[in-house]
Amino acid sequence: MSVDLHDYIASVPDFPEKGVIFRDISPLMADGEAYHEATDQIAAYAKDKGVDMIVGPEARGFIVGCPVAYKLGLGFAPARKKGKLPRPTVSASYGLEYGKSTLYLHKDAIKPGQKVLVTDDLLATGGTIAATIKLVEDLGGIVVGTAFLIELKDLGGREKIKDYDMLALLQY
Ligand code: 5GP
Repeated sequence: MSVDLHDYIASVPDFPEKGVIFRDISPLMADGEAYHEATDQIAAYAKDKGVDMIVGPEARGFIVGCPVAYKLGLGFAPARKKGKLPRPTVSASYGLEYGKSTLYLHKDAIKPGQKVLVTDDLLATGGTIAATIKLVEDLGGIVVGTAFLIELKDLGGREKIKDYDMLALLQY
């Protein structure tokens, strides 16, 4: 690897609240070589898994998943928040620190039996990705892998999705 992707993650203390270190992926996206390298690594993983389709949650799951889909000549389906998708959907809710959130996927986004890669920028507690996996499975898709730029190791996400194969390019 010619670039060390760690160099392109900005660690921002006390964002969005005191005591939290936010891992900002914008410098990685802003650098053509680093973004390319991250995309290539995830695309190699997806190719290995025989992926047919990629699904990612709003909004940074798109940033990771769409270039991989383009590179492999595959389709991408967005999992979105309430009120964003215009046609019939399936939904899955997940807990947040305060309250809950719901993600939606168009009912025709996945065909039964399709092998799906689920992508997001970062794995923390795993709630977002578990909800995205549920949407895919409700439609009969087979989640053959999950891929992230970053895994926050102390937050239990890996345990939450332990039944699924996982790639994280960076860990903190
Ligand atoms: P989880 O549902 O695993 O607890 O949280 C992961 C979701 O929260 C991801 O969709 C991710 O975009 C967002 N997220 C939480 N913390 C961070 C962070 O430090 N950096 C970035 N880039 N995203 C975060």
